[in-house]
Amino acid sequence: MIYLFISIDVEAPHGNNPVDQMIWGSINGERFGIKKIMDICEKYNVKSSFFLDVYEARFYGVHAMKKVALEIKNRGHEVELHTHPSWWTEDPRDSFSLRRIKKTRSMFDPKRNWMHQYSLVEQVKILEVGKSLIEEWTGTSPIAHRAGGYGINKETFTALKNVEIPIDSSICHGWLNCKLDKITVNKIMSITNVIEVPVTTMEIRPFITFGPFAMYSKNRIYKTDIERLSLENLFSFAHQAKDLNISIMTLTLHSHSFITFSPNFSDVELNKENLSKFELFLNSITQNKHFRCMTFKEFYAEYSVFPSKFNGSNEIPYVERKVKLKEVLGSFYKKNLQKQKIDPKLKKYWEQFSQEKTL
Ligand SMILES: [Zn+2]
Repeated sequence: MIYLFISIDVEAPHGNNPVDQMIWGSINGERFGIKKIMDICEKYNVKSSFFLDVYEARFYGVHAMKKVALEIKNRGHEVELHTHPSWWTEDPRDSFSLRRIKKTRSMFDPKRNWMHQYSLVEQVKILEVGKSLIEEWTGTSPIAHRAGGYGINKETFTALKNVEIPIDSSICHGWLNCKLDKITVNKIMSITNVIEVPVTTMEIRPFITFGPFAMYSKNRIYKTDIERLSLENLFSFAHQAKDLNISIMTLTLHSHSFITFSPNFSDVELNKENLSKFELFLNSITQNKHFRCMTFKEFYAEYSVFPSKFNGSNEIPYVERKVKLKEVLGSFYKKNLQKQKIDPKLKKYWEQFSQEKTL
């Protein structure tokens, strides 16, 4: 059996009207954010786990964030904890006023955006504050944690143990900002008595063909994310997981996965491709007898009684993806265009954390 976790990071760090655009996903009066994700899950009779960046209550008010938490809870899905202690205050894509909000109202140090930049005592504090906000808003304790930018270190596990959050889901193999990315790839394990359910990853090797010849590019690690993999790649992970005896698949999304933003986040449009990818994937996987969808609370209840049921291998699915010369040239051209356009500050920031490794 392969256990599928549908996990959504809920956050609103950019835009003219961040919560409305990035969490509710409003486009011309219709909503394509968390509600749409829940609609699709419910259509296939599955529940999902939403990792909420509760610390944004300081930016946008308690009322706005509590409303998000209650919407998720009242529909029977799970509110779990997503820790962004602060957000980058110099993001050139943000308006002056949003940058000011991030600079002056951050709940924790605006210069340290990742958990691993905080001491153990500070991490305990961050987790305590987050946990109690979710309890206060929903009446239920979060059972799982995911660090923003997967930015955990060893101390994070001690801190989680300390505040009695039994599950972490922040290890993402090959993610530069994750300080423990080598500990596990696709296997559940216990670290300092905290259960790690990693963000699952696969290796992809792109190639192009010229007649009988093939030219390969470097392998890259990709997380099983709606925004990063094609539907074909997601299915490929699912099929190989069965053969490789991998016991989990952690599908990751953002509250804004179905939205495409203009470069400064002011304009939004529907990302039909991601929306249909999610729907088609769920449609197929829920009919597959080798897969079972579960939330982190359901997992914890079963793991506590029968942990060995979740034993699996630590293998990494691998796929070679044939790409068309047109696409390579197209992406090369786009990359060069982007190179000219991207603010050097932004580029440096991205390189620091939001990247999967090239092998
Ligand atoms: Zn995040």
